[in-house]
Amino acid sequence: MNSESPPGGAGDGWLAGRCECGKVRYRVEDAFLYASNCHCSRCRAATGSAFKPFAGIDREKLEITDGPDELLIVGEETLNDTRCRACGSLLFSVVADGAYVHVALGSLADAPTMRPTKHIFVGSKAAWFEITDDLPQFEEHAT
Ligand SMILES: [Zn+2]
Ligand SMILES: [Zn+2]
Repeated sequence: MNSESPPGGAGDGWLAGRCECGKVRYRVEDAFLYASNCHCSRCRAATGSAFKPFAGIDREKLEITDGPDELLIVGEETLNDTRCRACGSLLFSVVADGAYVHVALGSLADAPTMRPTKHIFVGSKAAWFEITDDLPQFEEHAT
């Protein structure tokens, strides 16, 4: 599909991502607009983790390169969590009426240039988890 692009994307401005079983692969431009660790109850449940590190980018800057028929869209076309139907991995969420995607950073195979810059929805944080870094914390959305 994008034969001009080496697999893995390292150094060419694109980042490779994949689900746990490998049936779904995508690539996203290494040009994220923002990145956060979200502690809201939905993100914790969706990832089965203490928080969800994610980064936002224009939806058209993410392309499914493998397994488009394997996608499990949980929600609406313009507001959803997109997972692999075979293994269930959360890959990204479509948000803002379909304008942006929030890439679940754990699904990236390559390291993005932008790292999470803050913790959000700390008011909903898991009681058993302690934030030990110095990133700014916000009760809900960052202001
Ligand atoms: Zn999978
Ligand atoms: Zn969240």
